[in-house]
Amino acid sequence: MMQVAHQCIVCGEARSAGIAICDQFICQACEQEMVKTDVDDAKYPFFIRQMKQIWFKMDA
Ligand SMILES: [Zn+2]
Repeated sequence: MMQVAHQCIVCGEARSAGIAICDQFICQACEQEMVKTDVDDAKYPFFIRQMKQIWFKMDA
């Protein structure tokens, strides 16, 4: 399997493991972090903001 590094839109790191939605990429670490982040966690609004970049693109 080819290991291509993509830049994660959440942490900004270039990683090969993760999910790609449209042409946006979220690394595995951030994806798992998001899954376990509580709605009242301080980090939650940050994740939502980053995710909106994908939603806007999907809308277009
Ligand atoms: Zn990441």
